[in-house]
Order: sequence, then C-alpha cells, then structure tokens
Amino acid sequence: MNKAFDVIVIGAGPGGYIAAIRAAQLGFNTACIDEWKNEKGGPAPGGTCTNVGCIPSKALLQSSEYFDHAGHHFADHGIGLSNLSVDIAKMLGRKDTVVKQNNDGILYLFKKNKVTFFHGRGSFVSAGDNGYEVAVAGAKPEVLTGKHVVVATGSSARELPGAAFDEVNVLSNDGALRIPAAPKTLGVIGSGVIGLEMGSVWRRLGAEVTVLEALPTFLGAVDEQIAKEAHKAFTEQGLKIQLGVKINEVKSGKKGVSVAYADAAGVAQTLQCDKLIVSIGRVPNTTGLNAKGIGLRLDERGFIEVDGDCKTSLPNVWAVGDVVRGPMLAHKAEEEGVAVAERIAGQHGHVNFNTIPWVIYTSPEIAWVGQTEQQLKAAGRAYKAGTFPFMANGRARALGDTTGMVKFLADAKTDEILGVHIVGPQASELIAEAVVAMEFKASAEDIARICHAHPSLSEATKEAALAVDKRTLNF
Ligand SMILES: Cc1cc2nc3c(=O)[nH]c(=O)nc-3n(C[C@H](O)[C@H](O)[C@H](O)COP(=O)(O)OP(=O)(O)OC[C@H]3O[C@@H](n4cnc5c(N)ncnc54)[C@H](O)[C@@H]3O)c2cc1C
Repeated sequence: MNKAFDVIVIGAGPGGYIAAIRAAQLGFNTACIDEWKNEKGGPAPGGTCTNVGCIPSKALLQSSEYFDHAGHHFADHGIGLSNLSVDIAKMLGRKDTVVKQNNDGILYLFKKNKVTFFHGRGSFVSAGDNGYEVAVAGAKPEVLTGKHVVVATGSSARELPGAAFDEVNVLSNDGALRIPAAPKTLGVIGSGVIGLEMGSVWRRLGAEVTVLEALPTFLGAVDEQIAKEAHKAFTEQGLKIQLGVKINEVKSGKKGVSVAYADAAGVAQTLQCDKLIVSIGRVPNTTGLNAKGIGLRLDERGFIEVDGDCKTSLPNVWAVGDVVRGPMLAHKAEEEGVAVAERIAGQHGHVNFNTIPWVIYTSPEIAWVGQTEQQLKAAGRAYKAGTFPFMANGRARALGDTTGMVKFLADAKTDEILGVHIVGPQASELIAEAVVAMEFKASAEDIARICHAHPSLSEATKEAALAVDKRTLNF
C-alpha cells in the first residue's frame, strides 16, 4: 500500500472526517486516522459527536420525550394508555444502533470518496522535505508521510478536581448516556448545554434532577429574555436549578454520591444523589500527538494555536474543531474542515463565525444565531426588537406545545437582522431560516414580506420579523 499521502487527517470526528472527504473530493490522496473503538474493538469513526455526543444524546432525548408525551400529553389528545412502561435497556440499545449506523455511514463515505482509513492513534514523528511523518499505533502499526496534516483530535470532558469520572457514580457525558436504569435522584454539576440535555433525559425517565451551577446567571450566553423563559419552563417541569453555588467536595460511595457545596447565600448544603453528572466544560485532546516534539504550539489552555484560517505554528499543519479556539460545536468543526481542505487546494474557504447557529435540544428547544440583546446593549448598538409568542401560533396550538417565542433583533437604522433567538417547539429547525437570512444580510422586513406556509411554526418567525416594525397580524 502507498504510505505517502497529500493530506493526512488525525481524528475522524465531524471536523476530521469531513475535512478528509472534502480533501479527497478536491483530488488529494487522503488518509484519515482515528483511534475510537467500538465495544468489539473495531473502528468507530465519528468522534465525540457520533459516539458519545450529538447523536446518542439526541436519540435518548427523542426516546425520553416520547415517554414524557405518552405519560403527560397523550391524554390531552384523547389517547388513553394503561400500564405505560419504559424499557431502558431497549432504549439504550436503540441509541447504540443509531450510533453504529452513523459509524458505518462514515466508513462507507470514506470508501466512496477513496479516503484511506487507519484505525489507531496518530502522532507526529518528524518533519522532512516530503512533509510530515505520522505514526499510527494500532493493531497494525504504520508510518505515513503527508504533505499536509490536519489535526482534528477533538476534546474530552473536564474532570472536577477531586471527583474523577468512574462512569458508575460520577459520570461524564459518556457514562450519562448509558445509565442502566433511571436513578431516583440525579445531580448535575454545570447547567450548560450538555448538563441540561442529559438532565432532561433522565428527568423525563423518572429521576429527580438537581442542577448545580457556579455562575450566578442561567445560560449566560443565551439572550436574557429567552433564558428566563427557558428557566421558567424547566422549573415547571421539575428540574431544580441552583445558581451561584460553590462546590466544596464530592464523595462517591456504595450509597451514591454526596456533594457538599455552598449555595448562593454562602450557606453550606449537601446534595445526596444516586448518580452525578459532571458537565463543567471540555478540554482539548492533544496528549500523545507529540506536539511538543515537533514544535506544534499550544496556547495556555492546551488548545492548538491557530490563526483565522486554522493554520498552526507549523507550515502545512492545520487544526480544526474542538481542539482549537471557538465554539465546541460539530457544525463549526465541519465548516472548518471543509474550509481547510479548500485552502490546501488554493481556494478561499471561509467560515462566518457570526452566523453559526447554537441549539440546546431540551424541551422547549433553545436556538439562536447572531447577537443577544445584552451584547448589543454592551456594544452600544442601536437596535429594534420584535417578539412573537408560540401561544398565538395556530400550528403550535394544534401541536399542543405553545411554550416560548421567536425574537428578532435588527439594526435600528438599516433594519439588518443582528440576531434571532427562539425558545419553543422545533427551534432547532426554525433557526435555519434565520441563519440563511443573516448570511444574505437580510433585513427584518425581508423575512416579514416572505410567504410562510400556514399553519406552520415558521409563521412565528415571520410574525416576529413583523413585530420589529410593530405590525404583527396575529397578536
Ligand atoms: C453530550 C454531548 C452532546 C453534544 N451535542 C451536540 C449537538 O447537539 N450539536 C453540536 O453541534 N455539538 C454537540 N456536541 C459537541 C460536539 O460533539 C463536538 O463539538 C464535536 O464532536 C467536535 O468535533 P471534532 O471533530 O473537533 O472532535 P471529536 O468529535 O471529539 O473527534 C475527535 C476524534 O479524534 C480522535 N482522536 C483524538 N486523538 C487522536 C489521535 N492522536 N489519533 C487518532 N485519533 C485521535 C478521537 O478518538 C475522536 O474520534 C455535543 C457534545 C457532547 C459531549
């Protein structure tokens, strides 16, 4: 086999596998190395996203939402159920099948695009005239050479000092996705996206969930009005959220986990729970790459240092996704992967960081793009705001889910859309229209003048755009 490649990609998460496919499409002889193993020790490309992140969490969110609907909402539709039960083992098995379909899909895409896949850990050996030597430590050790190397090694869950993950009682996202039975009580440290999504899954399946958050504000990165609405909905659902806490000690034993903390008033408290999910952020994966040996510069937090084009400190070495600065989102990693492959081909790959959508897949879903009202205020930008509640949307009423709203923020003079924020049903899908609008520098009036299907949730988007000009039609 030819071991010399034009492009070697280390990591087959969304950043890496997409970079490899795009590089191959552009005519480069491309290799992709990934070390993730399935339970049989075989390759499981797709990274955190496919194996222990986006995909399995959405599978469980869907299953648990069906259960929640059957238990709490079907009766409103006149559907009666007796002996409703949940088979968690089957639910987890379905989630694993969904994951495997995605792993297999990526292996198929590699074949289709003629990307050579290596299963094992990749590390830099040396830099020479023909490019870089990269060793693959796997069942079959290899040494490859590549003119360009794209590092896409992703990130791992950050541990709380003194509370190492045992994945039995103290859980990272990995363990949180395979608890064999719904715990009676579940603690979650960190009210970010992962903590809220995982907390929602197990709450719907019967756990009493307490979320402990160090910051004094709930979802600080989210538009304040939207975060407030979401907080209200989560609290009504029974999620206990405590803000401004300071964790002092976590003790794990046979009877579960005990968390000693000071609440916002500084009063000592203890949370006793069967399981504890720790979701306090993620750290970049650079150990074992031999970054130091080869002179690849990391920043003070361990991320690979890159410029705006994802170029590292070494010529022809690039880095994308969670292992570099910027939001830790799968679609951000993918866009960077595509842009880097195109830059290698001499094209002008581009990622617009201002139009990257964010989604939290709780119920209600939260999604946004662009700037929040508090950011605009802080920047001193003159803006107009328009909101429209799902309560006044016919499709939402028919669905039986009228929580939340769509909110537009537009420039006070030009009417250019500066941010769109949604909390409510299908926010993850609705946000796409706002992303397209912002990419095309649309005004709020542009959206207000576009015909939207009736009855649809997207009419709330149109109405929120109309609200910017104070002329909603249905509210
Ligand atoms: C529970 C959870 C839910 C999430 N949900 C969402 C969501 O809904 N939407 C969203 O956009 N994002 C979500 N994310 C974030 C998303 O998963 C990451 O942003 C994304 O996976 C980053 O992609 P990546 O390619 O940079 O890295 P990763 O997906 O982490 O992939 C890196 C790959 O590189 C491999 N690797 C590392 N080092 C080496 C080495 N030396 N040699 C060979 N292979 C190596 C790893 O094994 C891994 O397979 C979620 C994350 C979690 C934990």
